[in-house]
Amino acid sequence: MEQAAPSSPLEHVRARIATAAKISRRQAKEVTLVAISKTKPAEAILDLISQGQRVFGENRVQEAQEKWPAIRAVHPDVELHLVGQLQSNKAENAVALFDCIHSLDRSSLIVALAAAQAKLGKRVPCFIQVNIGNEDQKGGCAVSDLPDLLGKAQAMDIEVIGLMCVPPAGIEPAPFFALLDKLANDSGLERLSMGMSDDLETAVQLGASHVRVGAALFGSR
Ligand SMILES: *Cc1c(COP(=O)(O)O)cnc(C)c1O
Repeated sequence: MEQAAPSSPLEHVRARIATAAKISRRQAKEVTLVAISKTKPAEAILDLISQGQRVFGENRVQEAQEKWPAIRAVHPDVELHLVGQLQSNKAENAVALFDCIHSLDRSSLIVALAAAQAKLGKRVPCFIQVNIGNEDQKGGCAVSDLPDLLGKAQAMDIEVIGLMCVPPAGIEPAPFFALLDKLANDSGLERLSMGMSDDLETAVQLGASHVRVGAALFGSR
């Protein structure tokens, strides 16, 4: 039977995830779609919420603090994730506001997050971000630092649920996604935050549990 053509960007992205999952013998529901709403106004977010989207991501703490309290007052069931680099001096604000942090990448941030968690009496699940392409100027810990960082986070009561990466731009991402999956397996971590608007199919096929999609849902920035 023919499937009806997707009528909205959200349906289109869901269909892309479903097709990629099916090819790799996975269930679409194993993949959490994180709608990245950075730079987008509250109206665009509310529109997606009205279509059923429940998990969102922002890359800056301050922008999220400006936009999200009003949205969450009306939609307390919506989850908010931080996907961008986190400065240690914003760790407390981040723990207060976010349900998940995808960008834990250094020892000093572990210390700051642990202190914020203790002060606020709240634990926030985290992904460790890995600089998977070993690029200068790119967020994420070096592959060789991962075991130490994970051990330190766990010793300080940070709940590490998986690994996150942003592969190098302009080249085939599959080897980097496969490497992140291997590193997670070696570390005993289950979840993988990988895949964006242009490469989410590859990420789903290589085991992503969370895809972070902005432009394909909201239009280009
Ligand atoms: C902006 C952003 C995304 C979404 O990228 P798109 O190409 O718009 O889908 C995903 N992850 C991170 C860390 C981002 O900053």
